[in-house]
Amino acid sequence: MFKSLVRCYSTALPNKQTVLPRFTFPVANTSISLINKNLSKYLNNKHEKITLNGHINRKPRIRSTLGFVHLRDENGDEIQLFATPNTTSDAIFKLLKEVSVEDSISVSGYIQSKESKANKQEVELVIEDFHILNPSNLEAARLEKLKQSSPKDIPPQFRYLQLRTPFFQNALRTRSKISKLIRDILIENHNFVEIETPLLFKSTPEGAREFLVPTRSSKFYALPQSPQQYKQILMSSGFTKYFQLAKCFRDEDLRSDRQPEFTQIDLEMSFINNSDQIGLVVEDLIHNIWNKIGNKSTYKVNSIGNLERITNFDGLQFEKLDYIDALTKYGIDKPDLRYNLEFENLQDYFVNENNEFPIVEACILRNAGHIPKSFTDGLNFKRKPFVWMIKNEEDKLIQNKVKGIYVKNANYNLDLNIGDVIAISTRSEFPYENPTPLGKFRQLTIQEFPDKYKRPIEENGKLITNYNHDVIVGSWVVNFPLFNPVELESDIYPKYDYTKFQSTHHPFTMCKIEDYDLLETDPLKVRGEHYDLVINGVEIGGGSRRIHDSELQNYIFRNILKINNIDELFGHLLKALSMGCPPHAGLAIGFDRLCAMIIGSSSIKDVIAFPKNQSGVDPVVDSPTQVNREVLSEYHITVNK
Ligand code: ASP
Repeated sequence: MFKSLVRCYSTALPNKQTVLPRFTFPVANTSISLINKNLSKYLNNKHEKITLNGHINRKPRIRSTLGFVHLRDENGDEIQLFATPNTTSDAIFKLLKEVSVEDSISVSGYIQSKESKANKQEVELVIEDFHILNPSNLEAARLEKLKQSSPKDIPPQFRYLQLRTPFFQNALRTRSKISKLIRDILIENHNFVEIETPLLFKSTPEGAREFLVPTRSSKFYALPQSPQQYKQILMSSGFTKYFQLAKCFRDEDLRSDRQPEFTQIDLEMSFINNSDQIGLVVEDLIHNIWNKIGNKSTYKVNSIGNLERITNFDGLQFEKLDYIDALTKYGIDKPDLRYNLEFENLQDYFVNENNEFPIVEACILRNAGHIPKSFTDGLNFKRKPFVWMIKNEEDKLIQNKVKGIYVKNANYNLDLNIGDVIAISTRSEFPYENPTPLGKFRQLTIQEFPDKYKRPIEENGKLITNYNHDVIVGSWVVNFPLFNPVELESDIYPKYDYTKFQSTHHPFTMCKIEDYDLLETDPLKVRGEHYDLVINGVEIGGGSRRIHDSELQNYIFRNILKINNIDELFGHLLKALSMGCPPHAGLAIGFDRLCAMIIGSSSIKDVIAFPKNQSGVDPVVDSPTQVNREVLSEYHITVNK
């Protein structure tokens, strides 16, 4: 279908009569939705001359005496265009026969009722004037089919054709509305200043792999993985509330739904002594975005474990969940709290032969009913021991089947009933493995049984269990360990080097005040002033209080993270901190992910105009490309094939 696009261009100047009319044409004076809203003004009023611009939406039907064409305007609305040889000139009627789906056009005429629908107020535009502004060169019938079934089936190199469809028009328009609301809330309600920070930054070890930008001076810039250091320097520059919709770049594994370049709602505040002040601003954004643009309420888990709609945005609403509680109850630091599946600790009854992973725990799916094979096939985890069983007659089954786990007290009673499923695994005392095997099991269960283990909604004293609408449930996960031991290669059990540390969030995060002394004695026990915002099992944002004391920051770099060339890498930050930089804290929200969730999509590609594919290629422009040797030599680069 798209072959015809590979055109042979002539070397001659194109024909003036063909080209110039494409540049001089009547511009739209209204839109289809405005016409529909003001029908009485337009209907059968030949003096009310209308011009619309847009694309042909479906294959036209042109017979010898009658022609029907469908125009889609910039809002994605459609109107039928109607012509007979009597309503328009011969030349235009002839032109209509050349029209093809997705051509861009300008049409002028007046509005009348559709003949067959005279009472129903369905209208059409009678064509008086018509211009093809650019033909699409596409095989209409196939493209039309693709547009209707799934716009994503249109080949990705023709992203602009995908984007013309209602799905993507809505996605990108929603994204634009969300950015406007964010700016309104942050600037108008909270006095933030939007400041752009450089994209040509320098290479520093902040966590992710960077993209380097060569220069002719044989030095390199790096694209920022986030504006973290610049925003901290801004806090030292007299701005107390900064934000930006920031482009970030990370040269990371693209297999999961990630993009090498993405956007964050990045913010920072100074002179604050408590991270709740960041939380309040962020919740103001989140509740408003979901309420006003997502048309959905936000919920929290209340003190008795039910879902409660958030109606009052004063004060922090989402519950705070300790990292260690998240891991022990749900096996992951971003639990989907729409579901109340919590693990049971079986440590008193069983012992694991690998004593680095002494905790034996279970996730029980009560009354699971039919278990599809697709689900059990997915439970073949590399990390063992992991077992699952369906209870049939009696529960002696554990002792016999779990390799590596021994019964230490036979008096266990898990209160299993026929039809229940039990999954059992182990974890270390302090879990760095994230998710744990049971955490993965819980995630797969949620995917497989999306309606089964939902928490009830508590409303006006009643518990509602059979609701079928999507709920948006948020929580703050706090008290993360400030450092993790470095993970080593391993096959079954994860292995760590407990003498080498890396920052859980980033190296600029402050510790909990009460854990300060542990920085010297036992860094792995130190908790960070770090908070993640998790919504429906997705980590939507994360942030922290920062270290604004340059001595302490230097200590963390040197003594804990063992960074050698601190001056070269972070001297700029230490200097800015040491010159009266106020206490500050901040956070960044994944803007693409948030937009995707708002439109109900699981892929951030749906809300990015020109995403890269899984190989990091932009299929529209076919980047990245090779660069010829002469250009490379200006940058002092040679490429080893
Ligand atoms: N810069 C951090 C990130 O990209 C967010 C923050 O701490 O504000 O995750």
